[in-house]
This record gives sequence, structure tokens and C-alpha cells, in this order.
Amino acid sequence: MFTRTPMSSNLLRPLTNPSSSHSLSRGLIRTVPLGSSRGLATANEPYDVAIIGGGPAGYVAAIKSAQLGLKTVCVEKRGSLGGTCLNVGCIPSKAMLNNSHIYHQTQHDLKKRGIDVGDVKLNLPAMLAAKESSVKTLTGGIETYLFKKYGVDYIKGAASFASPSKIDVSLTEGGDTQVEAKNVIIATGSEVTPFPGIEIDEKKIVSSTGALDLTEVPKKMVVIGGGIIGLELGSVWSRLGAEVTVVEYLGAVGAGMDGEVGKQFQKILAKQGLKFKLNTKVMGAEKDGDNIKLKVEAAKGGKEETLDCDVVLVAIGRRPVTQGLNLEAIGVELDKRGRIVIDDQFNTSAKGVKAVGDVTFGPMLAHKAEEEGIAAVEIIKHGHGHVNYDAIPSVVYTHPEVAWVGKNEEELKAAGVNYKIGKFPFAANSRAKTNQDADGFVKFIVEKDTDQVLGCHIIGPNAGEMIASATLAIEYRASAEDIARTCHAHPTLSEAFKEAALSSYDQPINF
Ligand SMILES: Cc1cc2nc3c(=O)[nH]c(=O)nc-3n(C[C@H](O)[C@H](O)[C@H](O)COP(=O)(O)OP(=O)(O)OC[C@H]3O[C@@H](n4cnc5c(N)ncnc54)[C@H](O)[C@@H]3O)c2cc1C
Repeated sequence: MFTRTPMSSNLLRPLTNPSSSHSLSRGLIRTVPLGSSRGLATANEPYDVAIIGGGPAGYVAAIKSAQLGLKTVCVEKRGSLGGTCLNVGCIPSKAMLNNSHIYHQTQHDLKKRGIDVGDVKLNLPAMLAAKESSVKTLTGGIETYLFKKYGVDYIKGAASFASPSKIDVSLTEGGDTQVEAKNVIIATGSEVTPFPGIEIDEKKIVSSTGALDLTEVPKKMVVIGGGIIGLELGSVWSRLGAEVTVVEYLGAVGAGMDGEVGKQFQKILAKQGLKFKLNTKVMGAEKDGDNIKLKVEAAKGGKEETLDCDVVLVAIGRRPVTQGLNLEAIGVELDKRGRIVIDDQFNTSAKGVKAVGDVTFGPMLAHKAEEEGIAAVEIIKHGHGHVNYDAIPSVVYTHPEVAWVGKNEEELKAAGVNYKIGKFPFAANSRAKTNQDADGFVKFIVEKDTDQVLGCHIIGPNAGEMIASATLAIEYRASAEDIARTCHAHPTLSEAFKEAALSSYDQPINF
């Protein structure tokens, strides 16, 4: 599932270099010559590292591995590198979010800024082509530039284990080959979780993949699932003209979000035109010509209701991809949710085989997958690596954006931690007001006695960029006072960030 939930497994802990994790890893990147030392190995020698999957976990691990002088191969079956993220996830969804926002803003927001435009029309084929062009440039760049620059061997095909150190590859262009490696990293990612009884045809009943490629704006769209993917793609089609209803089983949207932020977020999206049916379960869907009748009822049971629409987006989460890998043969253990079980060095239960990214525990996020890919190869090379699972940010790329890192209030209450809150509204921030874009707030949660930042939750313009400062604060265990005493440029949105930190232990200046 595309959960973005906090780490639940105690198998994983922050992986730290005993001496100095930060400086050591940076130093290594600088000292390894470009192109690395692959040439030292002969064709008959096994690879040092073979990586299955070329997504953010796999391709980043492959580059890092080659940079560290390890003879590296990456096997990917999709036909292009970049995985879910670059091909059908982060990148195409952000292309559609950005361009649909500009379209919507041009229609509804420019007049009050003193900009009169003529007849504004949507050219959906051109918008889809712009998205495809971003995808092609980025995925192609990994294959034709980065892999070549750093000397990663790339095999196009589907991998399956013959033994823990031997991988059979069924080549995309036909035929087979076998790869032998001292270390194997599984980075096979995740796929859409199907909704039982509702068949996805990617035309009328779509997953996130089909929702990125609709050739007409739906009149009425129902989104099953009020998580991040559902809200982002629901926003896209709502801005382009669809009437969008989000059906969510739980009583709140935005899984993993701080409760107060989630409520505010839902209000803002409702103001933008999205409709919500919370505490509601979907019972089934029937196609009726070009329309779909979606049967829903109260989550606790009750009277059935039928929602008519022309497109249904199934966005109930994602599940790990392990089929076809022949994991049973090499004894790799899976948990009840199908995730590969790993220890704190990413080792699976098969010797020499590690797993990273969406296929194992933790939030299904591209940057978490990348961090793990890098740490896994650093562990292979040096015996240590670094991932701080307390400092993994999450971002929802709607407008306004929502971003958070660290703990939310609900988690801290449940853990019995004494905390203080510092909040600052964008309505009191000069830049946000000047930009006429002042919905939302910054909220800091700090440890009561020590002032240490435990969490930061932002809803507002550019929240996704601003959260980087909060992530750094948590990584370096900063206090709210450390942030508030750091000079922030004026006039910037980040002054709201500074004032929220200030508000947690003192009074804000501008509010
Ligand atoms: C619509 C959408 C929007 C998203 N937006 C964001 C976002 O904004 N930010 C964010 O952080 N995350 C986002 N995500 C999640 C993000 O895409 C994933 O967390 C990330 O791609 C995981 O990386 P990964 O390398 O673990 O797996 P993947 O990206 O899934 O890559 C795994 C690769 O392994 C390949 N593979 C599988 N089995 C085999 C095999 N047997 N042999 C060879 N190759 C194989 C697959 O073809 C795939 O390319 C989004 C996801 C979706 C669907």
C-alpha cells in the first residue's frame, strides 16, 4: 500500500556509521573517480553487486555501487529505468499537477491579479504530451547518461533467482542469460493494490497509471481512497473540469497526516470543489454503457447508495512486487503483507541477498527507497550506512501543498510524550499575503523539556520545499530555538517557518 505511514517494524533502526556517518559518505563520493574501476574485473568474474529493479531504490543503488568501485549490473524488465516513480508515479503525476494548476489559476485567479487573458482552453493531448516528454527525458537520462558515466551494466529483462548468487534473466528482446554476483539487492518495488471485485480496465475503471493518461476529462469521477495518490489525482481532474467525489473508509483523508492539518486540508479541497464521502465503504461497481454505478454504504453498515460516474479511480494503496523472483527457492521470508523481511543491514533470510525500497518495510516513497539503496551498497562496501527513519519527509503536491516530517500529535499523545506546539498562519506572513496565496499554517511540535523538534507539519504554498529545513532540523536534533534564532530572508514564506518555531517557546512577532 502507498501508505506513507511511519515505520512500524523494529527490525529497522537508523543505520549509522559508528564514527561519522554524514561526513564519511560525503567524502567517499568526492574521492571515487568518475567511471569507477569496473575495468579491473574480467568478463568471467562475477559481479560484486547485481540489482534487480531499476526504480529509485535500484538505479540509485547501482550508481552508488559503481561510484564505490564495485562491478555492478542492474536488471530491469520495464524497458525503461526510473521505476514506478519516473514512469507512472511521482514525475508524471507532478507534471499533471503543475500544469493543471496553471490552467486552473489562469481561469480563476489571474483576473484579480490584474491579468486579463482571452478565451482559456484546455488542450489535453498537449498536456499529456508535455508529461510524457518529462518522463522520457528523465528515464532516458539514467540509461544514456548516468549509467554510462558511472559504468553500470544494464540488462533489460525479468530476473528470477536460480540460487542466492545466480540470477536467470529472461531478456526483453528474447532469449535468456544468467548473471552471477557476490551480492544481490532486490529492489522490485510495488504495484497497485486491486480492489476485490472491481476490475481495473485502465479506461473507465483506472488505477493511478490509467488516471495519468485519460484522453478526455471525465464528467464525474469517483476516487476510491482519500490517501495521497487519490487526492493528488482527484485534484488534477477536478481542476481540469471533472466533478470529483472522494470515497474514504476512514473518518479522515490524507493517511499519516497530523489530524489538525488533515481537517484543514479537507476543508480547502472542498472549497476547491472536491466532494468527500468519509466513513464510507465501496461495495461494488457495475458498468452501465459508458457510465459506472458504484455502490457504497456507511463503513459501519447501513443503507446502500449508488454513485453514478463515468470514471472510477481505484487508489486504495500499493503492494510489494515479489512474484516471478523465485524467492521460495532461495528461502527469502515475506511478512503477512507480502513485504520482504529484512534486518537492520537490509539482509533478507537468504545469504548475500538484500532488499530495499517499496518491496520491504516502511513508507512507500521514492526518497526513502533511494536512501536505502545507497545505504545498502555502502554496507556492502564498508560495513555501515545511514538511513534515519525519523527524518523521512512526506509531501502532497496539491495546492496548497501539505508536507510533514517526524511525529504528529496523535502519535505523541499515544506514546505519552510531553510536547509543546508552535503555530504560525500564512495569513500573517508578508510574502504569502503579497502573493495572494495565504491558506494554511506551519506547525512545530517540540519536546516540552528540551525544546527538541519532534515533528513539523506544514499546509501552505511551497510546503514541499520548506519541509527540507525541518528535516535537517530533525536530522541534526535541532531545538525550536536553533531555528528561530537562524536568520531567514525577508520577504519569504520561510519566515512563517521561523515564526512557528519561535511560537513554540516564546511569542511570534507578526501574529
Ligand atoms: C501516482 C504515484 C505518485 C507517486 N508520487 C510520489 C511522490 O510524489 N513522491 C514519492 O516519494 N513517492 C511517490 N510515489 C511512490 C514512488 O513511486 C515509490 O515509492 C518508488 O517508486 C519506489 O521505488 P522502488 O525502486 O522501491 O520501486 P519501483 O519504483 O516500483 O521500481 C521497481 C522496478 O523493479 C522492476 N522489477 C520488478 N520485478 C522485476 C524483475 N523480476 N526483474 C526485473 N525488474 C523487475 C519494475 O519493473 C520496476 O521498474 C508515487 C507513486 C505513484 C503510483
